[in-house]
Amino acid sequence: MHRYDPDTTSATVDSVLAYAAERLALDPVPLDGPASAAELTEAAGPTITAAGLGAARALDVFADVLAPACLSTDHPRYLSFIPCAPTREAAAFDVVVGASSIYAGSWLEGSGAVHAENETLRWIADLAGLPAEAGGVFVNGGTIGNLSALVAARHTARERASSAGSSVRPWRVATTYGAHSSIQSACDVMDAELVQVEMDEHWRLSGENLRKTMLDNGPDTFFAVVATSGTTNFGIIDDLTSVAEVCRELGVWFHVDGAYGGAGLAAPSIRHRYAGVEQADSFIVDPHKWLFAPFDCCALLYRDPALARAAHTQKASYLDVLNEAPDWNPTDYSVGLTRRARGLPLWFSLAVHGTQAYADAVERTLEVARFAEAEIGRRPYVEALRERDLSVIVFRRLGWEARDYGAWSDRLLAEEFAFVVPTAHEGETVTRFAIVNPLTSEDDISAILDTMA
Ligand SMILES: *Cc1c(COP(=O)(O)O)cnc(C)c1O
Repeated sequence: MHRYDPDTTSATVDSVLAYAAERLALDPVPLDGPASAAELTEAAGPTITAAGLGAARALDVFADVLAPACLSTDHPRYLSFIPCAPTREAAAFDVVVGASSIYAGSWLEGSGAVHAENETLRWIADLAGLPAEAGGVFVNGGTIGNLSALVAARHTARERASSAGSSVRPWRVATTYGAHSSIQSACDVMDAELVQVEMDEHWRLSGENLRKTMLDNGPDTFFAVVATSGTTNFGIIDDLTSVAEVCRELGVWFHVDGAYGGAGLAAPSIRHRYAGVEQADSFIVDPHKWLFAPFDCCALLYRDPALARAAHTQKASYLDVLNEAPDWNPTDYSVGLTRRARGLPLWFSLAVHGTQAYADAVERTLEVARFAEAEIGRRPYVEALRERDLSVIVFRRLGWEARDYGAWSDRLLAEEFAFVVPTAHEGETVTRFAIVNPLTSEDDISAILDTMA
C-alpha cells in the first residue's frame, strides 16, 4: 500500500486535496454540530475492516458523516472558549506540512523548517521586546508551553539553590485566581504547590500583593511566578511591570502566559498594556488562538534558552549524534521529543501576508469587540460584568438563570446559528463572547444579542 499507483493513488490524492480545497473555499463555513456515538455508528457503519473501504467510500464517510459532527471553530459566530480562525494560507500550508514528512525536533533532520520556525519565533520575541538571544520552540498548546516553562524554571531554581549551598528545593509557584487551569495542571504534574496571590482591585496580579505572599511564605520556596497577559475568561492583563520588579528583587523566574492575549502585542492600539512583558524569563502565546494559525500551535520563548536546554535535553546513546552537535534542536526546549513542524503554517501565512496584515487583523477583532461592548451597554436586557480589556466580553442577561442560558445556547447550536456557551463568575451563570476571528462582524454580534431579547 506504500507504492504510488498512477491510477488509484493519484485518484485518492486528487480527491483528498480537492476536499481540502473545497473546505478552504467555503465562505461562510457551516457551523455543524455534535452527534451521539450511536447516531454516528448508525450513519457511518463500521469503517475499520479487514479489506478496507477504499478511498472513495472512506472520504464520503468523513465528508458526509464525520465532518458535519465537528464544529467549525472558524465560523464567525463561534464565540465560545477561544475560537481558532486560521488564514486560508496557514490552513492550506498545514496540508503541505503533512505531506512532507518533516521531523522538526532536530536541526540535523529539519534545518529548513526549524530556520523558518525560528524566524517566526523571532517576530514574536521582537513584539514582546525580548533580547536577541531569546529563543524557543513551537509546542502543541499553552498547557504544554506553560508546563515546559515551569519545568525549566524549577530546574534553574534548584540548580541555583544547590550551588549556593542551600538545602531548600524550591517547590512553589505563585499566581492568581485568574490564571488558566493549565497552571494548576502543570503544578499537579510536577508535584508543585500553587500559591494564590490575592488580586488587586482591577482583578490583576500586582507586585505589591505578590511581594507580600512571597515574603509570608519564604521567597526561596518559590521557583516561578506566573502572570497572565490576557486571562481566558476576562482578558485581563496582570500588572507585568510591578510583577517583574518583584521577581527580580526576590530572584524568582518570571513566566508570562499570553496563550490567548499575547497576540495583542501585534496591535499598536493596545501594545502599551503589555509593558513589563519584555522582562519575562519565559513567555507563551498560542497562534492557534488569536494569531490565525490552525491547531495546534503554541510559541514558547525563553529569555535565556540555555537554561531551558539544561532542563529539557533528553540524553541517550541514540541521541548523541544530535546532542554532540552545537545545533539548535527545538526538542531541547520543551517536554516531548518527536515534533511536527507546527510553526510552519504560521510562518507561511506571515511570509505571504507580511506582519502589517497581522496587526490589521488583530485590530479588526478589537474593533468588533468594542462594538459588542457598546451594544451590550446600549441594550437594556444585558449587562457587562466588567469593562473589556481585550477581545473577550463577559455579560449577563438580566433575569436569566443557569437553565435559561443553557436552553438558549443549545438552541443557537441546534439551529447552527451560533456557538456561545454559558460560563460562570462567582457562582453566577453568565455568558461570554471571545472575538478572535476577523470575519466576525458587527452584524453577527447584533444578531446573537437579538436572540436574547
Ligand atoms: C488557552 C489557554 C491556555 C491553554 O492553552 P492550550 O493551547 O489550550 O493548551 C493557557 N493559558 C491561557 C491564558 C489560555 O487562554
